[in-house]
Amino acid sequence: MEAVVDCRGPPTRRFYRVLWRGYPPDAATWEPERGLGDCMQLIEEFWYSQGMTTEDGFIPNLPSENRCEWCCRFFRRAQDLKAHHTRGCPARPGARAGSKSERAVQRERRRALQADAARVHMGTNDLESVLDFGYLGSDFDANGDSRRAITVRAAQAKSVFGKLHHIWSSDKLPEKAKLKLYSAGVRSVLVHGHESWDLDEGAQRSLRGWNARCLFRITGRSVAEECRQPTSDLVSRELAAGQDSRGSSGRDKCSEADLSAWLGARCWRRRRSAVESTPQALC
Ligand SMILES: [Zn+2]
Repeated sequence: MEAVVDCRGPPTRRFYRVLWRGYPPDAATWEPERGLGDCMQLIEEFWYSQGMTTEDGFIPNLPSENRCEWCCRFFRRAQDLKAHHTRGCPARPGARAGSKSERAVQRERRRALQADAARVHMGTNDLESVLDFGYLGSDFDANGDSRRAITVRAAQAKSVFGKLHHIWSSDKLPEKAKLKLYSAGVRSVLVHGHESWDLDEGAQRSLRGWNARCLFRITGRSVAEECRQPTSDLVSRELAAGQDSRGSSGRDKCSEADLSAWLGARCWRRRRSAVESTPQALC
């Protein structure tokens, strides 16, 4: 090898045009970067001749491509790339946008803001102002965001799914039985308390993806197929039913009526027993 004279392709599949010693320039060939492991010096020299350097893991851009040098994402137009940089590339060293730690910091900030929010008094009691709280197995967020609750539930259900791996990989159990076990043992953990979730488009998409990533291990289909046409639909079957019961369906009205009747009976009984017991106490 004599020199590297050109380069093409994205950084993950990059090719270099190599000039061979003793051969004319038109005999130069395109070689993949992985085959040039012991010629890094020549590659460095090539980039240096282009006015660029590969130091510190920085992947140089080809002059003809609009690629983010940090996350390697391609853009059709130069202004799109510029806009991407202005918004802040999450892969830029030192950038923590979208990372777990950044979300945790934001959450702590919101928690501090919520603690300073206007206090509510109940008689002489000063009610504590909190950002989130658990009630009847559901996680509630002060700003009505149920994404965290879904993430927590999904992690718990995934852990159960992992513990039952011998069932999913077993070739003695039929697929139907596995699906029943999945529905009874794993999904029930996920959908516990889902009546309080706000199932917007994003939440539904992430739940479908979660379901597909579990189902593909059971059915052997691809994740994409399970996303498009799930063997057993999670969102429209189980979650939609629960969401309906939250609204003004007949079942909900019925349970509300039951609840008020029960509460009324309790209050009435307590009042009556108080009235009955008073004269005795006085005697
Ligand atoms: Zn980027």
